[in-house]
Amino acid sequence: MISGERFLSDLETLGTIGWVEGHGMDRAAYSKNYEEARTFVQKKMEEAGLSTSMDEVGNLFGRMEGTEGGAPAIMAGSHLDAVPGGGKYDGPLGVMAALEAARAIRERGIALRHPFEVVGFIAEEGGPLGGTFGSRALTGLVKDPIPEEVLNQFGLTVEGIQAARRDPASLCCYLELHIEQGPYLDRRGIPIGIPTGIVGISRYAVTVEGETNHAGSTPMKERKDAMRHATDLLNKWFAWVDTRDDFVCNVGVFSLHPGSVAIVPGAAEFILEIRSLKDAVMEEAFQRFKALCDCEAGLPVTVRRTVWKGGTDLAPGLQDAAERACGAAGIPCVRMPSGASHDANSMAHVTPSGMIFVPSIRGVSHSKEEATSPEDLARGAEVLARTIIEADKIFS
Ligand SMILES: [Zn+2]
Repeated sequence: MISGERFLSDLETLGTIGWVEGHGMDRAAYSKNYEEARTFVQKKMEEAGLSTSMDEVGNLFGRMEGTEGGAPAIMAGSHLDAVPGGGKYDGPLGVMAALEAARAIRERGIALRHPFEVVGFIAEEGGPLGGTFGSRALTGLVKDPIPEEVLNQFGLTVEGIQAARRDPASLCCYLELHIEQGPYLDRRGIPIGIPTGIVGISRYAVTVEGETNHAGSTPMKERKDAMRHATDLLNKWFAWVDTRDDFVCNVGVFSLHPGSVAIVPGAAEFILEIRSLKDAVMEEAFQRFKALCDCEAGLPVTVRRTVWKGGTDLAPGLQDAAERACGAAGIPCVRMPSGASHDANSMAHVTPSGMIFVPSIRGVSHSKEEATSPEDLARGAEVLARTIIEADKIFS
């Protein structure tokens, strides 16, 4: 029902704003490039006959009214910011597809009962504001105080963040089309994924205490080498991780102190990250890690939790609606978890939320090499448009 050509053309034009050849996307939230991109989308919304507005933190909305006065809105979209050197579809795909859905619904004279709102969230990607910032402001989830200098840097105020909070009663549901950012769909040759939930994230700061000493004159048997102890521990841990398929673990930061070629490391510090759909699995995995730290004879290990974001279930009714939409459009689909965090994560706290994934070629994202075929992008937009119409029927 959508115009694939128009949708792809707009998406590609948006993808040129902030694009640096050889580097990728330069469109951090609140930057000049960001504002230019948001203005482009706002203009397109207005051309489509949507009434546009912006909240106090910079989220952009384009709204069309439904036939039932006072009904809560179906909202669909994603984010417009990008990681440094990222791709052009991570985020903007969901916004431009929602806009195309609005145009298609209008042109076909389909009368939705609910108002329909396209949203372009700001600052979804991690940064000084903590990631999913725009959607957390809208849902009242910005709870930890933000340092004054960070607020000033982005021209934000505590009052503004509070004012961006939206009454949940004004929302019927939220839908987000996004690139998968993993290899699941591409490897299987399936064009559409329907996420069942978004994995939770837990992070732990781990320190192994050793003893600094001379790297030449200290006998091997007498060393308290924090590097060796930490890597032994991690080898044993990851051997167990490899036996499981219900969570993933990453150690992306690892440092040795004092960090000199001629000194036996006196401390090893690393961040252990565990992600799972199930909070209980994250906790179980952590307990296993903790037990390993305790029973490894030798050097003392301290473990401190720094992040705990529980997993989020996506609305089963919207998963069914997306599946019906795929069936009606003759597009194969599969249900799957989402390994990355999204604005839908925040939205699910206040309103039934659903997602639709399209394949990431070779599973690459947060990179200038990020890619999805035009056919798959258009299929995603088609399924989103049909799911919006399905959602209009199932919610009161
Ligand atoms: Zn994204």
